[in-house]
Amino acid sequence: MADRRKVAGVFEGDGFHWVGDGFHVTQLFPSPNDLTERLSPFLLMDYGAPHDYEPTTTPRGVGVHPHRGFETVTVAFEGALAHHDSSGGGGVIRAGDVQWMTAARGILHKEYHDAEWAETGGRMHMMQLWVNLPAANKMDDPKYQSLTADAMGVVDLAGDNGRVRIIAGEYQGVRGPAETFTQVDLWDATLNPGGSMELSFPATDNAALFVMDGTVEANGAIARQNSLVLFENQGEDIAVAAEAGARFLVLAGTPIDEPVVSYGPFVMNTRAEIVEAIDAFNAGEFGSLN
Ligand code: MN
Repeated sequence: MADRRKVAGVFEGDGFHWVGDGFHVTQLFPSPNDLTERLSPFLLMDYGAPHDYEPTTTPRGVGVHPHRGFETVTVAFEGALAHHDSSGGGGVIRAGDVQWMTAARGILHKEYHDAEWAETGGRMHMMQLWVNLPAANKMDDPKYQSLTADAMGVVDLAGDNGRVRIIAGEYQGVRGPAETFTQVDLWDATLNPGGSMELSFPATDNAALFVMDGTVEANGAIARQNSLVLFENQGEDIAVAAEAGARFLVLAGTPIDEPVVSYGPFVMNTRAEIVEAIDAFNAGEFGSLN
């Protein structure tokens, strides 16, 4: 580990809040931690720690709303999440599945607990990330990738250290199924008690870990549950260890070196493009969805 990355900081969200009535989340960035420059191409992280829901015949969630200029990536760890969008994309994701929705020039969608699941209720555990698109692809056609648990890349770490599920990018020669516009690594790693692993990203790539369960030591920093470890863009190697075991997400990628101007559900490169997005939405150009 001659070329270790320094830890830039360990960040936490500002408590939990509701998104609609179905997602009890803590936001790690862009609020309260403005990491837009530091974690490009990632724009936003909402983490829905495990939360129990009573049975209901009226599924909880978020009603119809637009997006333009980026991708929403929803990871289900427990529970069942339904999505429908105005481009015809949709489906239900369950434990281990991922929904990679490219809004690009614009969609309307709604995000709900799956109706059948909601009837019995139970534990929901999820995450939503927003991943930026390069300017050249912000006005592409929308698309939807339903990535099922059995399609994920899996690396069983040597020496019974743990397991890594690869959603996007590549680890130890194993690729994840997500098609991305720029280099993105998104991995779901579990370390057994006493387990450790080594990661390496080019110094120019941004990199972070988000701890979902347990406590990890990463290049000398201690990070507890619900905290994000951000690394400097110097050095390459990261050593992670978990004395009592841990589960964490690895987020890394090549930064998109372009201006970011965001307004609610629209993320573009200029203010003029934001005004265009609002006008297009008001003119009904994002389609329709009931
Ligand atoms: Mn949305």
